Amino acid sequence: LERDRGFDAGRFMGELRQDRTTGAWVIVAPRRGNRPLDAAVTPSGADRAVANARACPFCPGNEAELPPILLEIPAAAAPGWSVRVVPNKFAALGPTTDGETIHDSGHTVRPVYGFQEVVIESPRHDADLSTMTDAEVETVVSVYSRRTKHLLGEDRIETVVLFRNRGPGSGASLAHPHSQLIALDLLPQRMERIAQWSSRYLKENGICPTCQEIAIERKTGTRVIEETRCHLAIVPFAAERPCEILIAPKSHQASFTDANEMELSDLAHLLRRSLGRLRRACGDPAYNFVIESAAKRDLGSPSLHWGLRIMPDLVTWGGFEIGSGIPINPSCPESDAAFLRTDPG
Ligand SMILES: [Zn+2]
Ligand SMILES: [Zn+2]
Repeated sequence: LERDRGFDAGRFMGELRQDRTTGAWVIVAPRRGNRPLDAAVTPSGADRAVANARACPFCPGNEAELPPILLEIPAAAAPGWSVRVVPNKFAALGPTTDGETIHDSGHTVRPVYGFQEVVIESPRHDADLSTMTDAEVETVVSVYSRRTKHLLGEDRIETVVLFRNRGPGSGASLAHPHSQLIALDLLPQRMERIAQWSSRYLKENGICPTCQEIAIERKTGTRVIEETRCHLAIVPFAAERPCEILIAPKSHQASFTDANEMELSDLAHLLRRSLGRLRRACGDPAYNFVIESAAKRDLGSPSLHWGLRIMPDLVTWGGFEIGSGIPINPSCPESDAAFLRTDPG
């Protein structure tokens, strides 16, 4: 079952506002009403009240609470499915003039268009990627890839961000295991900056910066957590957070969608093991992970190299970080890697 989205289902509309004082862009997309699914999939997770909701909309039997299913991976065992993808709808608001900049009271505003989807990773409410079987995580990761490809193929879509918020404080308000995709018709400033940085790096050094980093990390080994056939898991040299983990393909790939079936299965194993290490070593912390992958215009780029970044929620940004934009990591990446390697579980 993989059907086209019905009219308006999963459409994401809001407005992009530019802060006159900093030049930074912000998406303003207030939600209408307070339905559980809206809260469950809000990236910023403002509404936690839903955690107390009696019925979980992602659990089997509560399908009445669920929007139309976009994709379902069947399973032999009850309830007959292993992974589902459903749309989420953001409240439509504001200007919808296609692609035009609108000046409202002198501020720069641009309509933003896109889609938001939720990947329900298991029918089991208490399942977790770190304790699911390799085969189960493989199915989840292959759905990540299918939906990313599908959304990148949509007209007007420029960027697809796949992410997972887990645990209190991470932005997740439903415990049921799920991750999300947001597809937008714009290129985020952070991605633009990384594209420029890596392209200049390639010009000056003749190699993609991530390919070089992987070669160096494999040689020195001090920040390596685990190496598999196709991927390397490291604590980055300049990790922003304690026990931050970056998983990247060892051979150059600009987009997560470049990974073939064998590579996706290799990734699934390493992801499951890395999340297990984090859970056991750091006491099951809340975390976010995100797949950082080339935007549509940069598919096939020789300088951009995708990666899956796991950001444990072990420290909170204070005034210095907010004021300067420079994170202070109170932990040493080399010790964190050694700690995660030992895998006390
Ligand atoms: Zn549930
Ligand atoms: Zn590379």
